[in-house]
Amino acid sequence: MANKQYMQLGCLDVDATAGCGFQVRAETEAELFQLVAMHAKQCHKLDSLPPEMAAKAKAAVKTVTVTV
Ligand SMILES: [Zn+2]
Repeated sequence: MANKQYMQLGCLDVDATAGCGFQVRAETEAELFQLVAMHAKQCHKLDSLPPEMAAKAKAAVKTVTVTV
């Protein structure tokens, strides 16, 4: 068993009214935002994150420790 740090972000962290329970974890911020962008495109029809939403998302990123 070991502890691993992940960055975590959920739709509800960015937009509480989104009504979307999507949550993503990744080891790096770059990977995290790649996954978020993919989800935003598929589920929210956003081809790219608007700058104010991207800023909000960045601020909402949490670091979590997971035991693996
Ligand atoms: Zn979503």
